[in-house]
Amino acid sequence: MVLADLGSRLRNALSSVESVSETEVQAMIKDICTALLESDVNVRLVAKLRDSIRNKIAQEIKKDTESAANKRKKLQKIVFDELCGLVDSHEEPPKPKKLNRAKTSNKPTRPGKKSVKKAADSHVIMFVGLQGAGKTTSCTKLAVYYKRRGFKVGLVCADTFRAGAFDQLKQNAIKSLIPFYGSYLETDPVKVASDGVKKFKEEMFDIIIVDTSGRHKQEQSLFDEMIQIGEAVQPTQTIMVLDAAIGQAAEGQAKAFKESANFGSIILTKLDGHAKGGGAISAVATTQTPIVFIGTGEHVGDFEVFKPTSFISKLLG
Ligand code: GDP
Repeated sequence: MVLADLGSRLRNALSSVESVSETEVQAMIKDICTALLESDVNVRLVAKLRDSIRNKIAQEIKKDTESAANKRKKLQKIVFDELCGLVDSHEEPPKPKKLNRAKTSNKPTRPGKKSVKKAADSHVIMFVGLQGAGKTTSCTKLAVYYKRRGFKVGLVCADTFRAGAFDQLKQNAIKSLIPFYGSYLETDPVKVASDGVKKFKEEMFDIIIVDTSGRHKQEQSLFDEMIQIGEAVQPTQTIMVLDAAIGQAAEGQAKAFKESANFGSIILTKLDGHAKGGGAISAVATTQTPIVFIGTGEHVGDFEVFKPTSFISKLLG
């Protein structure tokens, strides 16, 4: 069941409760759980959500003294809060800051004096994820998002594995007027990443986004490479890009990446398509990692800040 269908199923389940009788409420809970399971939300999480909804109903809804309208309102709020709880990790991802260029800028050195460039305390964001998840596209989207907010942003292509990866990032960067760094000759991704980050730090960039290579599968070599790049560039923030369309596989994938790359944020892509989304919701809940942005299309502007409450509100219509 795709995400839009999940929304209408949840909406129907909620609106089918008329008199808020015990039978109706139990049927509604059952419908909600079935809809979530069919959207690939993990069975363990669904069971937890069901118990939690039941407990809250028992605590908060007085069986005899309240009007049906009141009970229905409370019921809707309980379900809404629980669904938000599924996608809300309550973790705050690190926020980039603008550098004080007046204080830290690299002034031109006097002739004859050796130039020692200071490296700025830039916000380094490293992207990880499987090939095809939407890493390169999301790197540009994020760069444009911050550029529009006045940050000086640079893109580094450390994907030396996929032929054409540098060209893809370069074309995206040129189109969006974002400075970029990469190499056609260097085959060591760790070297490209370190050189790119060093260059942009010396040039006082506020934010440096590093695109790493993905593989088709969760191979050890990919994880080893990610760890080495991470050690070399010391990211302030590591973002895992997760394709919302991959269903139940999302949870295992996120767990494997969490163990090796220890990412702190997630970007969920392809929520515009036929994504079930439930697998990704499970991935967020299991790894306790916040979704920071969602990708809703192939274009650079198809990118939204993720807010649990508005995501669930939209889902419920
Ligand atoms: P990478 O291998 O992880 O770097 O993935 P790419 O950035 O090359 O993206 C793979 C494909 O997914 C490309 O065709 C992108 O245009 C597409 N893509 C990326 N994000 C989205 C999204 O949010 N929605 C849709 N519909 N397509 C996307």
